[in-house]
Order: sequence, then C-alpha cells, then structure tokens
Amino acid sequence: MDTPFEIGQTYWAPRQHPELITLPCPACKGSCVVTIIYGDEHVSVDCEACGLGYQGSQGIIKEYDLTPNAEPFTIDGVDSLYNGKWTVRSTTGATSDFNDLYKTEAEALAVSAVKCAEQEESNMRSRMHKKNSTKRSTWTVSYHKKCISDLERQITWHTSRINAGKVKKETV
Ligand SMILES: [Zn+2]
Repeated sequence: MDTPFEIGQTYWAPRQHPELITLPCPACKGSCVVTIIYGDEHVSVDCEACGLGYQGSQGIIKEYDLTPNAEPFTIDGVDSLYNGKWTVRSTTGATSDFNDLYKTEAEALAVSAVKCAEQEESNMRSRMHKKNSTKRSTWTVSYHKKCISDLERQITWHTSRINAGKVKKETV
C-alpha cells in the first residue's frame, strides 16, 4: 500500500492547552446586581448574565482560555483509510487525521494559534452578549413596574367600591 508518509516518521500535531479561568461578570462587574434607570428612578435587580439557576447571581463568569501548543506525533501505523483520508496512529496510541499533522513544530504551532484566537474571539462575543443582558433586565423592571401600577389601579378601584358602600350605609 502506498502511503503519503512513512511509518516511524515524526510529525507535529497542533494542540491547545485549555485553562478554565474565572472573570468578574461583564454585566454587573462582580456586584451581582444591575442598576437600571427607569424614568428618573434607579432600580436594582439581580444580574441575569451571571445568574446560575437556583444559585442566583455569582458575580463571576467562567471561560476557557487556550494556549497554543504542538506535540510530536511519531507514526506507528495506519488506523484507517476512508475516502482518501488517512487516519494514523502514533507511538503513544493517539490517532489523528494525517491532514492535521505538520512537518515542523512551527507550522503546527501557527495552526494552533489560529484556533486559540478563534476561541478568544468566541469568548469576547459571549462577554458582549452577557453585557447586553442588561437590556433584558430593563425589560424585567418595566414588566414588574407595569404589573405594580395595574395592581395599584385595581386596589384604588376596589378600595373606592368599599368606601362607596360605606358612605351609602352611613347615609341610610
Ligand atoms: Zn453579573
């Protein structure tokens, strides 16, 4: 069988070293509370960006920070050939698509760096999205405010009905 590589040859595989990092929440800056300006009033609500279910707002967010890395990959054998794609096995037992292996460490590191940059960009988008969640808090505040004013109107009406009755009774 003709292979585009030789058994025993060493290539480089792009890898990413992940680290779970904790950052202050971009929406509440760690305070767990977001202050919304409603009319001329300042209203504080629990931060929805870092609210985790029953635990409520934590003031922090977690994300993966990736560091570019490359590992040597010495071909020990062929794992499979499918649709012209070679999957190879290394001396350490790892498998890889042959197209994902590079001749030099520098090439593999460059590919890894691109992947890490993509992850960082996705983290940034997610942080922006969380920051924008204050818009949702504004909606929450206006919703509750509307419910309160509706109920207040009802209380006023019901109270006036009782008082009207009282007045009638007294005049009888
Ligand atoms: Zn928050």
